[in-house]
Amino acid sequence: MTIKTRFAPSPTGYLHVGGARTALYSWLFAKNQGGKFVLRIEDTDIKRSTENAVNEILEGIKWMEIEWDEGPYYQTKRFDRYNQIIDKLLAEDKAFKCYASKELLDEIRTEQEINKEIPRYDANHPKIKKQNAVAKNGDSYVVRFRNPKSGNVVFNDQVHGCIKVANKQLDDLVIRRADGTPTYNFCVVIDDWDMGITHVVRGEDHISNTPRQINIYKALGAPVPTFAHCAMILDDNGTKLSKRHGAISITKYRDEGYLPNALNNYLIRLGWSHGDQEIFSKEEMVNFFSLEAISKSASSLNSKKLLWLNNYYIKTSKPEYVAKHLQWHLNKQCIKQKNGPPLTKVIEIVGERCNTLVELVEQSRYFYENFSEFEVNAANKYLCKIAEKPLTLALKKIQNLTEWTVENLRNMISEVCIELEISMVKVGMPLRVAVTGKAKSPSIDLVMHLIGQDRTITRIKVALDFIATLKVE
Ligand code: GLU
Repeated sequence: MTIKTRFAPSPTGYLHVGGARTALYSWLFAKNQGGKFVLRIEDTDIKRSTENAVNEILEGIKWMEIEWDEGPYYQTKRFDRYNQIIDKLLAEDKAFKCYASKELLDEIRTEQEINKEIPRYDANHPKIKKQNAVAKNGDSYVVRFRNPKSGNVVFNDQVHGCIKVANKQLDDLVIRRADGTPTYNFCVVIDDWDMGITHVVRGEDHISNTPRQINIYKALGAPVPTFAHCAMILDDNGTKLSKRHGAISITKYRDEGYLPNALNNYLIRLGWSHGDQEIFSKEEMVNFFSLEAISKSASSLNSKKLLWLNNYYIKTSKPEYVAKHLQWHLNKQCIKQKNGPPLTKVIEIVGERCNTLVELVEQSRYFYENFSEFEVNAANKYLCKIAEKPLTLALKKIQNLTEWTVENLRNMISEVCIELEISMVKVGMPLRVAVTGKAKSPSIDLVMHLIGQDRTITRIKVALDFIATLKVE
């Protein structure tokens, strides 16, 4: 049997951490089992689904480097299929038309509440029976699934263990609304059946739907998939994620400069563990992942940990990988790399200092663009009259260098120190501010080497002009 999983987001909002983790777990399980992963867009809620949300979800999943083997399927394109099955269920009396008006259902609910009964639909309620009996052709109706009246639904959830629900707690579910559109709980079953889904990995918020869905599978004679319901994710403060608070879009993590591998590593540990290992390569994620090791209890976001992981991945990933994602940010900020050093070289020297790619952009910018201003504090401290001599001498030596190597640059700085009898700081810091505009950068010989001779000369001249404008102290 080929294992098949799916991720089935509703495009009524963006892809947030919870959804992204479900997608990751589902994908990892399929890959771990040598199976297939399907992407399905559950857009039957036509009023609340938007094309923007669909695009944003697809963008987020692609960015996470989760590749789907099939899809994306769209439920709105499958209405004929759903209706075909609904008609079959109606013909077999496994579903029925119900003409009860909203007013009548509200009235019955109020009665039940007054009588301290659990409010639920009851096809045998005399008022409902009466309204159904007098219904005429053309009256508005919904189709309801005839849920078994006795017995239990039992399933073995891969995360929560055995779950048993009595049928008498489940009512006859609406499977087609009065406007003719089928409902989520029905479509999901038909899709998972048609698409050969063997394992359903989804959020715990769907656990109460599962017994209802299992009854529909059984009525259809369809194989019931295995279910794994993942526990909730709480925010940094331990409260439930909401769209307003904490549940930020996955594309926002991209925009804020996280690497997909860092985010995936963070997400896998939000509710799954493998001993006390914290860092997982993609291969390890696939090899070690199992549904049984998913945690039953809620997990909390930890933004500090994510930042730490991101720094770790920036430092330790292949520079080509970081470069691919950094490039996206540079393009966004229109930083052109023409005539500048290869991005991978810049990453090699600047990467470890940065927690995010956004920081990396700021630390890389001066390799590609001349700047119009020095950082104020850096200039105040290091581009003062006293820096004129070392900078002038360094400029002369740099202009005379015939071979632009790190070693020659390092020697050049030493020579300036010796000739002027001053410390390394008195040469290095003015040079750093002159060439990068900042007081912090990697080793200045490495930086100048990558920036190149012409640009280095131009920038030192600009710094000397700047110093020349200062009033004598
Ligand atoms: N479309 C549902 C959601 O976005 C998921 C349904 C499922 O996984 O069964 O919450």
